[in-house]
Amino acid sequence: MENGKRVEIKATKQLREVMAQYFLEMDEAVKTKNKKIAWCTSVGPAELALSFGFLVYYPENHAAMLGSNRTASDYIPIANAHGYSPDICSYLTSDIGAYIKGETPLTKAYGIQNIPRPDVLLYNTNQCRDVYDWMSYYAREFKVPMLGINTPRTQREVREDVVRLTTAQLEEMVPRLEEVAGRPFDIDEFREVLAISLECSHLWEAVLDTASAKPSSITFFDACVHMGPAVVMRGRKVANDYYRILLEELKERVNQGIGAMAGERHRFYWDGMPIWGKLRAMAELFSRLKSCVLVSTYCNSWVFPAFDPKDPFQSMARAYSSIFIGQDDNFKENYITDMVKRFGVDGILYHDSKCCPNNTNNRYGMADRLKERLGIPYLVINGDLNDLRCFSEEQTITNVEAFVEQIEESQ
Ligand code: SF4
Repeated sequence: MENGKRVEIKATKQLREVMAQYFLEMDEAVKTKNKKIAWCTSVGPAELALSFGFLVYYPENHAAMLGSNRTASDYIPIANAHGYSPDICSYLTSDIGAYIKGETPLTKAYGIQNIPRPDVLLYNTNQCRDVYDWMSYYAREFKVPMLGINTPRTQREVREDVVRLTTAQLEEMVPRLEEVAGRPFDIDEFREVLAISLECSHLWEAVLDTASAKPSSITFFDACVHMGPAVVMRGRKVANDYYRILLEELKERVNQGIGAMAGERHRFYWDGMPIWGKLRAMAELFSRLKSCVLVSTYCNSWVFPAFDPKDPFQSMARAYSSIFIGQDDNFKENYITDMVKRFGVDGILYHDSKCCPNNTNNRYGMADRLKERLGIPYLVINGDLNDLRCFSEEQTITNVEAFVEQIEESQ
């Protein structure tokens, strides 16, 4: 096979079906009122909502769709005109802008006219404050309860008092959720959902781990697409069924020595958010340079090994308080060091995302410290997750080409 050519993942067909089924089920619930809808932040208390029988919708996933189909830049100015700064999260501004305009990518993708109206809004500030303000907007708009967890960030370690505080906040949500759901809480259902979510986490981690093979079985850009079920359907068996299919395909690739791209020569780590509107362009750029971006902080953010169905509240509190984004640089440097070694990485790419300081890790000296510690170079890519006005494709191509050249010269 021609060097640099990308190998398509066959399971993409099933992925499309699973995602369509997820959105169509929600639309059906809105129309027939057979199920209630909870909106949840991406690393919020989804499992608790599922145990009450809510269908769970994620505004961040919707915003990523706006980024991927490159309509985000049409909607961001609308939110700006309503007082939401262009400097804050462009997921938030594109999603709220689309809502104000009354448009959604779900219409073109699935024939769904509107995003599903929430019965309750759930959040966790473990990732940033923006999700709190985002949900607050919709709480005012839809006049529905907003419940959640306020988790400390930039933690030196996950302290037991933080776990206790988070556990208490989770438990406090139960009576309010009972009111909205119109049914009592059942701890056994909660345990079951958490067990399914834990299995999803293990399967997703196993999928990502296949990238440690040489050549790598999957790229970061593929993983950004295939992480959909781990984000929006964790806690539901359908996600696990999908990951078993994907895992089998990737294991097969590893066994046969087939890589995600032909002729892999360099292996990179991606830190920070994807540039959703340029996933394909970036995938093609790196393949052309025979470079595989194969491991990332971002895709690993939906791995929650601490879930324990025997102790559902406390273990869920611990899992969601331990996520990478909520820790200090010391933790993050140790984490990246481990991943770089495990995946045999030659260089690190830091996406400095204009509107998301929370998922941008090169601004406080980390890149230089890790360069010294690991002895591998890095490149900062300036851009944004959704606002393509902050991204120069030409400049990025030039910088990436120079970076790869530098690596080739040093080898
Ligand atoms: S972590 Fe960043 S991208 Fe995600 S919701 Fe918060 S500000 Fe937006």
